[in-house]
Amino acid sequence: MPELKSDREIAVMREAGRLVAEVLDLMGRHIAPGVTTRELDALAEDHIRSRGGEPLFKGYRMGGHTFPASICASIDEVVVHGIPSDRKLVAGQIVSIDVGATLDGYCGDGARTYAVGAVDPLKRKLMDVTLAALEAGIDQARVGNRLGDISAAVQQTVEASGFSVVRDLVGHGIGRRMHEDPQVHNFGTAGTGPLLAKGLVLAIEPMVNAGDYRIVFKPDGWTTVTADGSPSAHFEHTVAITGNGPEILTLA
Ligand code: MG
Repeated sequence: MPELKSDREIAVMREAGRLVAEVLDLMGRHIAPGVTTRELDALAEDHIRSRGGEPLFKGYRMGGHTFPASICASIDEVVVHGIPSDRKLVAGQIVSIDVGATLDGYCGDGARTYAVGAVDPLKRKLMDVTLAALEAGIDQARVGNRLGDISAAVQQTVEASGFSVVRDLVGHGIGRRMHEDPQVHNFGTAGTGPLLAKGLVLAIEPMVNAGDYRIVFKPDGWTTVTADGSPSAHFEHTVAITGNGPEILTLA
């Protein structure tokens, strides 16, 4: 059973979410040709710690691998979980930055995809559609709806534009831990799944491929790429279901 958060807990999560949004704004001001993702990672970590927070991804363990950085930086065909490196960003790329932070014991998690300089129309449309899919999913995060309503809204928005949603990675409940129940799939059937209740907090995060939905995991244990090499975009918000509808917590 997913854990429901009190108004007091959501108030703390609002601060953690604000910190995440500040980092994503900061990334947007620094992303440019010639910048390395390692430089972006250092900026992100410094900002999180300067506000009294802890990076959530650094040291995170999965399948025997430890994530070494505070952000995931995923360029072009990298879907998610790209490891920051000394590779310089190049005009025409898109780069997805995912960041998590804990503040006062609660987590915030968010992601955006940014254009590096001018990008081609396909990548621009991919980013626009992925953001629209996130917004459509968030709009379904209401008391009395079902989890499948979120998933279906994301999938329909993406597929109506001729793109595909990644099936093997999901959004998630979030609170004291980054990954809580339930899993939030980016595909599904409206009217199915558990009822959404006041106090449920979800990280909703469509990952959208310009081509086929299939992905491949690289041997480093993290880097996840599209199987067909097509570009991929990712937007994520931490969202609380309140008596007044969805509240996005990852806002600056
Ligand atoms: Mg997440």
